[in-house]
Amino acid sequence: MKSEAPYYKASGKEVEVFEHTYKNKIPFLLKGPTGTGKSRFIEFMSHKLDKKLITISCHEETSSTDLIGRYIIKGAETIWVDGPLTIAVKDGAIIYLDEIAEARPDVIVAIHSLTDHRRELFIDKLGETIKAHEDFMLVASFNPGYQRGFKELKPSTRQRFVATTFDYPDAKIEAEILINETDIELDIAKKLVNIATKIRNLTELGLTETVSTRLLVDAAKLIHSGLPKRLSVHVAVVEPLSDDFEVIEALKDLCDLMI
Ligand code: ADP
Repeated sequence: MKSEAPYYKASGKEVEVFEHTYKNKIPFLLKGPTGTGKSRFIEFMSHKLDKKLITISCHEETSSTDLIGRYIIKGAETIWVDGPLTIAVKDGAIIYLDEIAEARPDVIVAIHSLTDHRRELFIDKLGETIKAHEDFMLVASFNPGYQRGFKELKPSTRQRFVATTFDYPDAKIEAEILINETDIELDIAKKLVNIATKIRNLTELGLTETVSTRLLVDAAKLIHSGLPKRLSVHVAVVEPLSDDFEVIEALKDLCDLMI
């Protein structure tokens, strides 16, 4: 039996775009800041299309070996173990490489032949090339981060994907998400969204990343479970944003006025 569908509230035509991209098996890139629903969207789409989803959270140490597979020693034997990418390619799953730009460069090299007409994976340690299952699809996310400290994705890599930008939703949609995720009252949801909108517009604070929907969901959860509203906003929204004492104090004062 199919499990319950994950909740996802669309902001634009992303569902339709993904369905067609999947039909044509073109790799798909989700661009946008953290906490804007990219992972939730992919969970929702793979459920809708009834396809298995394999998610890899890429980080600085993620290598092609982690994705493709490796030999391990078992007792007196050395056996080959497929990595998640190889499994997805063979089984026809959707693989989601979250924050792909964080991974080591050999990961980009490894996915190359999967992102063009060849749709094949070369396993150098086995000297084998495998053709992707017809249901296989590659999805990646990338945080363009207009600030310092974010890794870039080369144009030659980006051009292998169909891409969609994810951003903070409109106020009405964001309040709806908070209510759906946490059962919070409309009035509080609206106040939280107003706080987020206000802080998002304070570009002079120079925050690396601003208030995401994820932070608002966390604040709403704390409020719903009975933590005082102001404290919930301080710990779930303000503190994760900055380590600068003055910025934190200023944001706390602002939030106290708004909730
Ligand atoms: P990202 O992958 O972009 O970092 P997530 O998909 O993990 O972000 O979203 C963080 C949280 O925000 C989710 O767990 C969910 O509670 C909420 N969220 C954000 N956008 C949406 C949306 N459009 N529909 C439903 N929930 C959302």
